Amino acid sequence: MKKKIIVALVLSLSVLALSACGAKQSASAKKDIIVGTNAEFPPFEYIDDSGNPDGFDIALVKAIGEKLGKNVTIQNMEFDSLISSIGTKTDLVIAGMTVTDERKQSVDFTEPYYTAVQSVIVPVGSAIASFDDLKGKKIGVQMGTTADFISSDIEGAETARYNKSIDAVNDLLNGRLDCVIVDKNPAETFVASHTGELEALEGSNFDFEDESYAMAVAKGDAEFLKQVNDALSELKADGTIDKLTEEYIGD
Ligand code: GLN
Repeated sequence: MKKKIIVALVLSLSVLALSACGAKQSASAKKDIIVGTNAEFPPFEYIDDSGNPDGFDIALVKAIGEKLGKNVTIQNMEFDSLISSIGTKTDLVIAGMTVTDERKQSVDFTEPYYTAVQSVIVPVGSAIASFDDLKGKKIGVQMGTTADFISSDIEGAETARYNKSIDAVNDLLNGRLDCVIVDKNPAETFVASHTGELEALEGSNFDFEDESYAMAVAKGDAEFLKQVNDALSELKADGTIDKLTEEYIGD
């Protein structure tokens, strides 16, 4: 009997000790931070010719690391794994990620740094010209993105989900899809390498809502969130954001 009580005591003490360790250390105190991204989203993130992640977001998060005196290591992973990586595999995510109420349940977002909108890539000569034309169509999207959520809500449409938007674009070129929905800037980049074959449609015929890109941090890490937001507003004020926009996005 005594033995059982001791075993029970030891067990409950270990559970207590474990949960105390489980209380996450704020990333604000870290000298080295791991930044998650999905380098399949040009011009915001892509792998450059030397095999390194580059793009607007990568340059931005490096500038933030410099402001905060933190070393930044970029971790490339699937878009769909980014949110759950925060607080375990990563300290921060930057991935042209749109702020949504659903994501806000799992992570905290910084102030926005870019306003985006969705775009529809179609083969030149396609009959698709407005949002209503998307009904009943076979639509390619990157899994877990806002394009995926939009497509999934279109009446009668079949959503084909890919790990990378570029794979959807290739299936569109192969005739396996009617269109691809993806954020405007990547859409323009993808279409640019297939002039005469593909075009990117947007605007009032589609009436997609504006989306705000922001970085995501662990939910409740107010100190780190403030650090990143302060660095971001300094970079907005000192012209760095404008300079990076011009360099990577060009508008
Ligand atoms: N902005 C979109 C989203 O947040 C797509 C982002 C991406 O594919 N990197 O869902």
